[in-house]
Amino acid sequence: MPPPALTGLPPAALAQWLESRGHPAFRAGQILDWIWRKKATAWEQMTNLSAAMRDELAAAFRVGALVHSQTQGAQDTTRKFLFRLHDGRYVESVLIPASPALYGEPSDRHTLCVSSQVGCAYGCRFCASGLAGFTRNLDPAEITDQILSAERLAAVRVDNLVFMGMGEPLANLDNLLASIDLITGPQTLQLGARHLTISTSGLVPQIRRLAEHPQQIRLAISLHGATDEVREQIMPVNRKWPLKDLFDALDYWNSRKNQKLTLEYILIAGINDALEQAALLARHARRLHAKVNLIPYNTVAGLEWKRPPEKHCTAFQRILQQAGVTATLRFEKGHDIDAACGQLRLKQESAEGLVAQDDEDA
Ligand code: SAH
Ligand code: SF4
Repeated sequence: MPPPALTGLPPAALAQWLESRGHPAFRAGQILDWIWRKKATAWEQMTNLSAAMRDELAAAFRVGALVHSQTQGAQDTTRKFLFRLHDGRYVESVLIPASPALYGEPSDRHTLCVSSQVGCAYGCRFCASGLAGFTRNLDPAEITDQILSAERLAAVRVDNLVFMGMGEPLANLDNLLASIDLITGPQTLQLGARHLTISTSGLVPQIRRLAEHPQQIRLAISLHGATDEVREQIMPVNRKWPLKDLFDALDYWNSRKNQKLTLEYILIAGINDALEQAALLARHARRLHAKVNLIPYNTVAGLEWKRPPEKHCTAFQRILQQAGVTATLRFEKGHDIDAACGQLRLKQESAEGLVAQDDEDA
């Protein structure tokens, strides 16, 4: 294992390390400033530290945990970054500029979609991330570094963060919580908890644990089916935690948090897009005081699923709206850049034979 990266180290642990080595306390502030505000990537950049101190640090830590490998998409559009990890695996993050349609006027706000694992063990049948199975969890540095790297590469400030990239964040809860501390911390990234959304396929015990987290983070549920029958055929996780258990956990969430829940619903032609599902979805959303995000399915190479015609998607949305539910219909940006989670990484890893190697390991 390589040495730990500073981008995953809590400020208190850094301060303690420095103190144990006899360094004055103000050094911690200088180092934190290089990492979190100046977004340094190399020890040489930290010019207010002596060369001897930089050597000492370099022997114990790495600065960051990611190496930028490629970017798809251009300035002002959705951009996707592929990063290489120390073990040769890849993760991806997608930077999405705010849509004028959403905010009513042009805006320079940005949302970053980050990954929480390499691959995913939950095997939803429509999803590229689940296709090659699960490889490993990302550590806190590999999560926070996606934000630092995207901000550096795109020269923007990330205003909103969504855990909707590769992986199931609630299956990596300890590292997720550690990264949330760094993302929201006053000495680190300083992003408001309200600007952070965790998306989950519905891991009930972890939803309950996260509900007890003191910060007002937001939660989005990948629902994708309004009955157990429909949901079960595309999301194996529903067999472990059926809708009743999930909704009970969401009631508990609502009792602890002020932010509205989001129910995500991919529209897949002939699978979950019957208008009766829309009516049932509206009932669930009303009961949970949730808003609904409808997402026409993004084609994944190797899977036969398709999105319904636009007219049908709009009809589905109208049923929700007529029932008094806030429902947005998002035609995903970046359809042309493999923006559906997991797709770019799959291409890269197959090109390098890593996916095949996984199969042999199994
Ligand atoms: N594992 C978590 C977070 C990552 S997936 C979860 O499932 O919520 C983020 C979102 O992208 C989920 O709602 C997922 O269902 C959706 N998604 C996966 N594949 C997709 C595709 N091909 N087209 C559109 N959305 C997709
Ligand atoms: Fe995993 Fe989420 Fe994809 Fe399901 S949708 S396979 S939980 S990443």
